[in-house]
Amino acid sequence: METFSAGRKELAELHFHLGQSVDPHILWSIAHEQGIKLPSKDYWEFYEMVTLTKPGEITWADYHELFKWTELIQSSPVAMERAVYEVINGAYRANNITLLEPSFNPIFRNRSGERDLDHIILAALRGMERALIEFPMIRAGLIFLLDRRSPFSLNEIILKKAIKYRTRGVVGIDIAGPNADGFKYDDYADLYARARAAGLKTTVHTGEDGDAAEMAHVVSVLPLDRLNHGFRAYTDKALMETVQKKNLTMCLCPTSNMRVGFIKDSQHLGEVLRALYDNGVKFCINTDNPAMLRTNLSKEIELVRQTGALTEAEIDQTVRWAFDASFVPTEAGRNLYL
Ligand SMILES: [Zn+2]
Repeated sequence: METFSAGRKELAELHFHLGQSVDPHILWSIAHEQGIKLPSKDYWEFYEMVTLTKPGEITWADYHELFKWTELIQSSPVAMERAVYEVINGAYRANNITLLEPSFNPIFRNRSGERDLDHIILAALRGMERALIEFPMIRAGLIFLLDRRSPFSLNEIILKKAIKYRTRGVVGIDIAGPNADGFKYDDYADLYARARAAGLKTTVHTGEDGDAAEMAHVVSVLPLDRLNHGFRAYTDKALMETVQKKNLTMCLCPTSNMRVGFIKDSQHLGEVLRALYDNGVKFCINTDNPAMLRTNLSKEIELVRQTGALTEAEIDQTVRWAFDASFVPTEAGRNLYL
């Protein structure tokens, strides 16, 4: 039988943050459902507040400030269930994404300890399971984000929760957030080793705001399965060789890097992609913050296509690399974690 999805390529998305992935009208609805007092009663003012549409519109320092409203709105079990459910089923319907790994920081959603973390996490898992029951062709798993601004003790709590819910659908950990005083990757080598020993997969944000030297250090100290961003390696042959030898797939996010000016334009993006491909580095295309950046995975792949740097067969290869690098178990019957 001919179906709507026939002929559409299945896509996988491994790097996007729940906070900036829920469409503004759904966030607006969730905020009102919970009686959250927003700074504006005008939907379009709210829309402007939670989205970024123009290149160079924001500095790197202000970028993370934008996340605070979306994190506050998502800071309850009811909100988390709906947010995860809407993101997973929306990505499937709009872009035929059949493999998704949304990430979030549970501690940024418990209103500084007012909410119980287990309730927040279980609600997120419930939202994921609802989407997987309704759309059985989707596979998904949650990634917990640690943050460079948080003390080690809080990040360690997130690791413990990830391990606790590993068999329920939490598949890995990641470190994100702007650099902060006192944060050292070396302090996280043991924590990352504990994650892997417990059966979780690991990734980290690197080679984004930092340089290739920072990235080379991160890759040397943390036990890793993938990298988020990492595009800065394109200037460093030795680093690309290390990434290739360690078999780390980079989860690139073109618009995200261009909006804050790290990648200058389409030509620069093309240079990055070609250098990585020619040096044997596996990478895949992702959105990072699709609702905030008003993008989606199909648009990001189109952006890559428009650089002219990769052939159609090479673009297809990046999609296969995404499926290959997934943290979600593929064994029959494991999808629902039941
Ligand atoms: Zn990211």
